[in-house]
Amino acid sequence: MSRKIPLFINGEFMQGSSDQTLPVTSPATQEVLAEVTFATSREVDFAVASAKEAFETWREVPISDRARLMLRYQALLKEHHDELGEILAKDTGKTFEDAKGDVWRGIEVVEQAANIASAMMGETVENVAGGIDSYSYIQPLGVCVGITPFNFPAMLPLWMFPMAIACGNTFVLKPSEQVPMTPVRLVELFMEAGAPKGILNMVHGGAEQVDQLLNHPDTRSVSFVGSSHVGEHVYKTATAAGKRVQCMMGAKNHMVIMPDADKNAVLNALVGASVGAAGQRCMAISVAVFVGEAAQWIPELAERVAKARPGAWDDGGAAYGPLISKAAHARVLDLIAKGKSEANCLLDGSDCTVEGMPDGNWVGPTMFSGVTPEMTIYKEEIFGPVLCCMELETLDEALAVINANPMGNGTSIFTASGGAARKYQHEVAVGQVGINIPIPVPLPFFSFTGWRGSFRGDLHPYGKQAVRFYTETKTVTARWRYDESEAGKQPNMSIN
Ligand code: NAD
Repeated sequence: MSRKIPLFINGEFMQGSSDQTLPVTSPATQEVLAEVTFATSREVDFAVASAKEAFETWREVPISDRARLMLRYQALLKEHHDELGEILAKDTGKTFEDAKGDVWRGIEVVEQAANIASAMMGETVENVAGGIDSYSYIQPLGVCVGITPFNFPAMLPLWMFPMAIACGNTFVLKPSEQVPMTPVRLVELFMEAGAPKGILNMVHGGAEQVDQLLNHPDTRSVSFVGSSHVGEHVYKTATAAGKRVQCMMGAKNHMVIMPDADKNAVLNALVGASVGAAGQRCMAISVAVFVGEAAQWIPELAERVAKARPGAWDDGGAAYGPLISKAAHARVLDLIAKGKSEANCLLDGSDCTVEGMPDGNWVGPTMFSGVTPEMTIYKEEIFGPVLCCMELETLDEALAVINANPMGNGTSIFTASGGAARKYQHEVAVGQVGINIPIPVPLPFFSFTGWRGSFRGDLHPYGKQAVRFYTETKTVTARWRYDESEAGKQPNMSIN
């Protein structure tokens, strides 16, 4: 009997009563690790009702106590870092180091949530008119919803619920149904840290459960991370239902390599950034744009990329793990086949096996050169260990191609020229830019600022923007007069 993944509602783990279930399988072996039961409509309602009820008391809890909950949670997550990493690695197939990195980047957001008091300070102006002062508070919204994808099962829920709850909201999480094991442990540790019942709830499911949360009259905001086509649907549906929405979606990230760059740094950075985590990162570099003579490095890059070997989560020599599912595997192989018909295939990983694990969703490192913007492998987000190389003549040409791409999540430039770097950071229409750094994920005191087709909404996750996303501003304008003769008597309520 495989383990059953529970829902978590009103402070209790409970088995879902639906007959809609999904096996959770190891992507390396296809072994069934667990079975997840989707929430029924009544169970989704129960989760929202529990969060709504808890909001009435949680919003009144002093801000320092809310912060202390996050301090205790941070300490527990650190104490259980390896354990969480192992659960996550088995569930997703990520290497152990990569899995621990996923957890760590989530812990860093919890650390920021523990500083919530200074982040929630309002503004004041004295004497906006004679004897009148104005000041603003920010107040929590109510029930917030989070919907997360498969590729960062610790970091992405932790981008959301700690900030929302620290701001005084309550939360309903709908994690990826493909990898629900890590979120269950995150919830257990949150309760162990002393979270009151109802402030965090978790339901499982897919489109039906998500749609119910998007349209539910008692939910106030929706944070979504996932693919572009689902994100567009979530954005349209939830905004039409009057929710505040942020959708972090697909990506096609370019790295520009100038001929004056440090060749060794470029080649090292590209290997990890392209095939690391099997390319299943929204900040993976999937397109390397070689400017001018830098294109001469492509054969040497192919030699280095070829050495990145996939393997099991606990294989210390493996550079990355399998793709998440049979369906993802088939899709990536299809795109590689397409690429072979349109570009030069320098490395073909479509026929990849790993000893002892014949059923894993393995794809070897794959590389194309001569890629152009009309090709399918350029237009699609492949989400596999596949690097597309483009050869262009100038930085201006590179900027034109990148700015014409519909996505704008992340990008980077490798160069020895401050002028080229300055021009690139200024002119590129992408929200997260690395200079001589391959994957420029901002730390949690900033925000995760994807642009254009990679994002819908106004305010981004974590950092100061998350505090604004999860709160409403209330501005008070007040006139109080002091009357000496009234001192010591009943308060003077006169405002004339
Ligand atoms: P996905 O869109 O398939 O799933 C995301 C979530 O949406 C899951 O919880 C899923 O259950 C739910 N969902 C699926 N179909 C739905 C539907 N029809 N209606 C409503 N909800 C639905 O994404 P995925 O395959 O799990 O994750 C990979 C994608 O996530 C990639 O495109 C990647 O770029 C993106 N991603 C983006 C960021 C970012 O910050 N921009 C970060 C990580 C991942």
